[in-house]
Amino acid sequence: MNLRIPGPTPCPEEVLHAGARQMMNHRGPEFAQILRRVTDGLNWVFGASSDVLSMTASGTGGLEAAVVNTLSPGDRVLAVSIGSFGDRLRTIASTYGADVVSYATEWGEAADPAEIARRLDEDPSIKAVLVTHNETSTGVTNPLEAIATEVRARDRLIIVDAVSSMSSVPCPVERWGLDVVVSGSQKGWMVPPGLVFVYMSERAWAANARAKMPRFYFDAAKARDSLAKLQNPWTPAMSIYYGMDRAFELMRAEGLEGIFTRHEAVAGYTRERVKSWGLKLVPTDEGFASNTVTAVWWPEGVDGKSISKRAREEFGVVLGGGQGKLDGRIFRVGHLGWFTREDIVAALDVLERLLQDAKAAV
Ligand SMILES: *Cc1c(COP(=O)(O)O)cnc(C)c1O
Repeated sequence: MNLRIPGPTPCPEEVLHAGARQMMNHRGPEFAQILRRVTDGLNWVFGASSDVLSMTASGTGGLEAAVVNTLSPGDRVLAVSIGSFGDRLRTIASTYGADVVSYATEWGEAADPAEIARRLDEDPSIKAVLVTHNETSTGVTNPLEAIATEVRARDRLIIVDAVSSMSSVPCPVERWGLDVVVSGSQKGWMVPPGLVFVYMSERAWAANARAKMPRFYFDAAKARDSLAKLQNPWTPAMSIYYGMDRAFELMRAEGLEGIFTRHEAVAGYTRERVKSWGLKLVPTDEGFASNTVTAVWWPEGVDGKSISKRAREEFGVVLGGGQGKLDGRIFRVGHLGWFTREDIVAALDVLERLLQDAKAAV
């Protein structure tokens, strides 16, 4: 299978084998060493000088943790949404009683840092900004550094969904002044689903001390206190930690710059290739096109779902579809985590051939 959805992503054999290791005491010395090494790896990738927390959940659990650990019911927040994951983060905040003000763009567009600045100036009661770094549903990467600069200048919290960006494209949390940043194991980290990573700045910890939203399983203070003893508060997804321990060896061998360059180069290749067939990218401004997932409109008159079906059944190439209102209208090619240029070339060769067949039939 050439699994080209934007998560879960393929894992290297050695990572899968590491995950098959026998269980051990999750409060014993052997696991403590693994947790220390994995946390050091997370701190390295996040660019964090304090320990990044890890919790057992899929990415959405991490987003919930980010919200409930820093906010109180009634807090006014600006939810920036450029697609379905931005909508999800907004819904989590409103579910827990935040007073949500919405800034939503057309899907395919990035958020405008100046517009965020304007809204914060207009409403000093806004305590926090919720924003997606890389919107996986539309293949758009927000100008996060510029957004963070505006938020910082106005002294509000910035809470970031970096689930499909962290470890694949630059997102140095301290250098950019981010407060809460969430990523998930099954996207760019070359391991299966099961763990989320949550960075909290000093400002976020200060907010945590006052935050009144209900929380138990995802209580960050409990996670921090347990991590000080090199434990998790609850039984963690140990197999994923075993795999991550191995994945970090691979990542350190490639180096962060090497990883970022590989993603950038293959994303650029993917965009050029689909454009050369006359197809249109979902991002309206290619300057904001994602380096982890490429989203493309199916051409007029072509039955995209049947092309995807043929790609999977006849060639073992699994493409991502469209979410929500984009269902059946776009396809997405994931190029994040563990992949080679050859994997992407092979997937695009199949797609090109099936598109030609479909056009010939029209
Ligand atoms: C995958 C993803 C998530 C989390 O989804 P889960 O299915 O809960 O892991 C959140 N945000 C973005 C941007 C994602 O790509």
